[in-house]
Amino acid sequence: MAVQTIAGNATTAPVDLGPAAALSCRECGERFELGPLFACASCFGPLEVAYDLPTGSAEELRKRIEAGPDNIWRYAPLLPVPADVADKPNLNPGFTKLVKADNLARELGVTGGLYVKDDSGNPTHSFKDRVVAIAVEAARAFGFTTLSCSSTGNLAGAVGAAAARAGLRSCVFIPHDLEQGKVVMAAVYGGELVGIEGNYDDVNRFCSELIGDPLGEGWGFVNVNLRPYYGEGSKTLAYEICEQLGWRLPDQIVIPIASGSQLTKIDKGLQELIKLGLVEDKPYKVFGAQAEGCSPVSAAFKGGHDVVRPQKPNTIAKSLAIGNPADGPYVLDIARRTGGAVEDVTDEQVVDAIKLLARTEGIFGETAGGVTLGVTKKLIEAGVIDPALTTVVVNTGDGLKTLDAVSATSQATATIKPSLDAFRAAGLGTA
Ligand SMILES: *Cc1c(COP(=O)(O)O)cnc(C)c1O
Ligand SMILES: [Zn+2]
Repeated sequence: MAVQTIAGNATTAPVDLGPAAALSCRECGERFELGPLFACASCFGPLEVAYDLPTGSAEELRKRIEAGPDNIWRYAPLLPVPADVADKPNLNPGFTKLVKADNLARELGVTGGLYVKDDSGNPTHSFKDRVVAIAVEAARAFGFTTLSCSSTGNLAGAVGAAAARAGLRSCVFIPHDLEQGKVVMAAVYGGELVGIEGNYDDVNRFCSELIGDPLGEGWGFVNVNLRPYYGEGSKTLAYEICEQLGWRLPDQIVIPIASGSQLTKIDKGLQELIKLGLVEDKPYKVFGAQAEGCSPVSAAFKGGHDVVRPQKPNTIAKSLAIGNPADGPYVLDIARRTGGAVEDVTDEQVVDAIKLLARTEGIFGETAGGVTLGVTKKLIEAGVIDPALTTVVVNTGDGLKTLDAVSATSQATATIKPSLDAFRAAGLGTA
């Protein structure tokens, strides 16, 4: 195995990342030593973590997982992290609620069981805490001292918080026009937060330049040079969903798409559980959700294309506003291979879906959650999602960060004088 070095590689000493054995190229399969690499030196394909997975019985592994902590580290034997990861300063995300959404199911006509995996319950209120937790361990292993990222909002907050806990410096980059909730949430942890005059794709390009510059030396960009490790964090969504269903695969799962990393790694996690014998090997369908104003993957799916044509985003679902999604082609493969689909909804449908979830289940999702539930509803109505099968919808973030989406139509019913007469006169209390 050749030792690969690139700018930003802080160390070449052998690293302990538990069962992670190497990085392998998704396109040509070439293997590389574990390091802060993200593109294949031969073909520029994306690298991913390859494992020496546990060899004991499925029963042993299941017991070991169930005896673990109530966070993602219960799955440490399947993640690129050292065995003593739970003892290190980390935000310890995960094991969020899988809510059986019976009211919502009734409203949508779903009879096969409808669940919401509610990742707004993570430490910084989005699924990004999962991916960052893994990237922090990689950053530590490679000797990085600054944690960074290009972000559509939630990632910046997750990196700021995780760096604070881990005792690392942080400097994160966002498009300048994000929601106030995302900006404050990213700034409060005390690291540097830089607004870039441009959209996410401009921010991402900027970060790629910074990695190649002496200014970025010693920096771990969680979703660039640590991307192979970062991505693995999303597998824990698949593990948790199956464990919470009683070690069963869902029949259908609906996932939002920004770069497409989360969707591809949830699929990877489901495949691993099948391979390890932790769940029964049976078909499942993966559905991807986008906003119409940023729907490059959905457009490619519906057009029957293998190539994802970049778009200029214009949607209220800013956390999903990536016009040139890195993992778009892999999302298309997974949707097609599993018999799923990729669909998009308008901003108006996003708002309606946020309110539908709040009204039926008491869950206030962010715009990304509105996209995912909106697409779920649309695909049920189109007969693409089967209402007689078990369906899981992933709510990836918290509505408190995207208040503007619903603030115009979610206000006090009335404002009155503190008297019963005024209350009665206003015709209130009869709902
Ligand atoms: C980042 C993000 C996603 C999806 O991200 P991918 O880049 O596709 O992995 C989904 N929902 C929310 C709320 C996010 O912040
Ligand atoms: Zn390659």
